[in-house]
Amino acid sequence: MRANLHAYDLRTARSLAEALDLLSREPGRWRPFAGGTDLMVLFDAGLLPHTHFLSVWELPELRGVRVDDDHISLGALTTYAEVLRHGTLTQEFPLLAEAAAATGGVATQNRGTLGGNIANASPAADTPPALLAYDAELELVSTRGPRRIPYHAFHRGYKQMDLAPDELLHRIILPRGRAGWFQAYRKVGTRRAQAIAKVCFAGSIRVDSGRVLDVRLAFGSVAPTVLRAAAAERALAGEPLVAATAAAVDALDRDIAPVDDHRSSARYRRQIARNLLADFLGRASNARNR
Ligand SMILES: Cc1cc2nc3c(=O)[nH]c(=O)nc-3n(C[C@H](O)[C@H](O)[C@H](O)COP(=O)(O)OP(=O)(O)OC[C@H]3O[C@@H](n4cnc5c(N)ncnc54)[C@H](O)[C@@H]3O)c2cc1C
Repeated sequence: MRANLHAYDLRTARSLAEALDLLSREPGRWRPFAGGTDLMVLFDAGLLPHTHFLSVWELPELRGVRVDDDHISLGALTTYAEVLRHGTLTQEFPLLAEAAAATGGVATQNRGTLGGNIANASPAADTPPALLAYDAELELVSTRGPRRIPYHAFHRGYKQMDLAPDELLHRIILPRGRAGWFQAYRKVGTRRAQAIAKVCFAGSIRVDSGRVLDVRLAFGSVAPTVLRAAAAERALAGEPLVAATAAAVDALDRDIAPVDDHRSSARYRRQIARNLLADFLGRASNARNR
C-alpha cells in the first residue's frame, strides 16, 4: 500500500543549533532525515510509521572528511561516493572503500550516507563491519553537548542503539595507523551488485613471526546486530596464526546467531561465515610468507 504524503511532515534545519533545539524541545517527535535512501523505501512501501522528519542534509557541521595526524573524522553525512573519491581514505581504510563500492548502485552511493547506514541499524548493512574492524568511534551531539562512544558499543540489539531521541550522529572517527596490517572485506550476496548481504565480513590482522599480535574480525547479517567476533579474536590473540586457525573458526560459532529469512538460511550463513574467516586467515598467513 502506498503512503499518504499528507500524513507526513518534513522540516529542513538551517543550522545544527536549530536542529538540536527542535530535537530537544520535542524529543522523539522528530526523526533525522539524511539522504533518505532507507526512509524513502519504507515510505514508498507504506511502511514508515513515524511521520515527523527533520532534514539534516544542509548542515555543514555534519559534512566533510578531516584528516589529522592520528585520526580521520568523517561527518555523518559523508556519502559512499565521497568515501570513494577520498585518496587518504581509500588508501588507509580499504575495507571502508570496498564496503562503499559494494553498497547499492551509483545513485545510492551519491545520496546514501554513512550516518544513515549506521543509524538505520540494519544487521545486514555493509559499512558497519568495516567500521568495527577499524575501531571506529562515534561522536553524538545534542543540546547537552557532544559525547563520544566506541562504535562496537553502539548497537544494543535489533534496531536498538545508544542514541537518545534528541541526539544526532555527528561524526565518525577512524584511528589511523593500520599500515602493516593484513586487511580484507567480503560481501556475499545473491549477485555482485545491488544485493543486500547474506553475510558480510571485514577483517584486519597484524602478524609478526607467525604470531598474531592484534586482530579485528567483524561480521554482518549473522546476528541481530553487526558484531565483532570476540570469541574468534580471543582464540587468535597472541597465538601462532596457522595453529590457531581451526580453533578460531570453531570459536566463531559462539559469536554468531544467524537466522533463516527470505535472503538466506541460518545454516548457509553459519557455513559461509566460517568459510570467510578460514579464507581470511589463510590469506593473511600466505601474505606473511610471501
Ligand atoms: C536501491 C538501494 C540499494 C541499497 N543498497 C544497500 C547496500 O548494498 N548496502 C547497504 O548497507 N545499504 C543499502 N541501501 C540502504 C541505504 O542506502 C543505506 O543504509 C544508506 O547509507 C542510508 O543513508 P541515508 O542518508 O539515505 O539514510 P536515511 O534514509 O536518511 O536515514 C536512515 C536512518 O538513519 C537515521 N539517521 C540518518 N542520519 C542520522 C544522523 N546524522 N543522526 C541520527 N540518525 C540519523 C534516520 O532517522 C533513519 O532512521 C540501499 C538502499 C537503496 C534504496
